[in-house]
Amino acid sequence: MDRRDTLKSLGLGAIVGALGIRPSLAEEATANAYARATTGLPPLKITNVKAILTAPNGIRLCVVKVETSEAGLYGLGCATFNQRPLPVAVAVDEYLRPFAVGRDADNLEDLWQNAYTSSYWRNGPVLNNALSGLDQALWDIKGKRANMPVYQLLGGKCRFAVDCYTHCSGRDVQAIEESVRRAMQRGFRHIRIQQGGYGSPHLAQQPDFQEADFGARDDAHMDTRAYVKATLAMFEHIRTTCGDDVELLHDIHERIPPIEAINLVKRLEPYRPFFIEDPFSPEDNGYFRQLRQQTSVPIAMGELFNNPHEWVGLISERLIDFIRVHISQIGGLSVARKIATLGEWFNVRSAWHGPGDVSPVGHAANAHLDLAIWNFGIQESVNFGERTREVFLGAPTMEKGYMCVNEAPGFGVDIDEKLAAKYPLPDHPGYWSPVRRPDGTAVRP
Ligand code: MG
Repeated sequence: MDRRDTLKSLGLGAIVGALGIRPSLAEEATANAYARATTGLPPLKITNVKAILTAPNGIRLCVVKVETSEAGLYGLGCATFNQRPLPVAVAVDEYLRPFAVGRDADNLEDLWQNAYTSSYWRNGPVLNNALSGLDQALWDIKGKRANMPVYQLLGGKCRFAVDCYTHCSGRDVQAIEESVRRAMQRGFRHIRIQQGGYGSPHLAQQPDFQEADFGARDDAHMDTRAYVKATLAMFEHIRTTCGDDVELLHDIHERIPPIEAINLVKRLEPYRPFFIEDPFSPEDNGYFRQLRQQTSVPIAMGELFNNPHEWVGLISERLIDFIRVHISQIGGLSVARKIATLGEWFNVRSAWHGPGDVSPVGHAANAHLDLAIWNFGIQESVNFGERTREVFLGAPTMEKGYMCVNEAPGFGVDIDEKLAAKYPLPDHPGYWSPVRRPDGTAVRP
């Protein structure tokens, strides 16, 4: 087919004629574009997609490796779902691999869109994690192709490093105060304070359900009244002893009835929290409007979200201040950057979930996005264990309360697969243990 035929096949002949453009110039431009689309550089094909499971420090991590037709060019993405790692590995190896092999690695968005609908039913945590592994690995490859860190592909730096908060907890207020002082000495300006474990179970009386032999012996328990009372006392103590300069954060962990959470957040207002996190379960999203009408305490929400219907309304109706999704749980970096863009127009800031059960690749993805978006809020800090750092080379580092990434192309994190294989998943499957109210009723996180 010559160039004139090409133009005709593209339906441009009539347009060229109507505009009076010299056919030779128009033909030239169109033919070049067509040539680039059809006969440019050889396309980069995906040759393999595989899940790698490892637990160097006892936490079940899953990363996806995408290999390409260019020798030595591969990417890594986080697909860590600590509570269900094996189904994610199956979704990657048995379903995403045959879907993606042979496709063009450069067309990241196209691959994401079609992989997303390839299961027909979608937006669940297992498939979203698998998709995130593919997505982030393709961003890593794109960075390596461009010889740039991923944050450059996202627009470049908006800040020199990623400001982080750290966790301080203790069984009583004195222990929490000591922990806060130590964190401040390490350079942290934002500190999450918690009294004991999730829901402060050590504050509750011996639960009646255990005496009645209801549930299993090791089921956890919590008492709403004891938790609320202790949380108010904790804020009072830390503000009084540690001053007003430090920013204080707290996570309700969704565990108390919604109206109790509204009451608690209102009563915390005098202590000026930086944010209060997860006041409600995702099933109780409808309560955010009522919360907003009663207090101006900043609210962070979203680590349990999987589905756009869970976050779009909360952002567009300005019902939260920080969006806190777990990036692999929502399908990867491509989704998170769209959420960030949506949030910018409503001044909702980012606070991506960043616990230990995100792989170093996932933390790097969080940090690269944090660097590049205007509406960055705060990042959850992480301290990788020594063995995790040996398996994942180039993992982000912490300095004076900031997370830093290296300048290598892509995410700058590699994996030593032989070493990773020496740390299999723990025997315990890792499910989330039951938590009960005193009468044994299940508490929903
Ligand atoms: Mg949380």
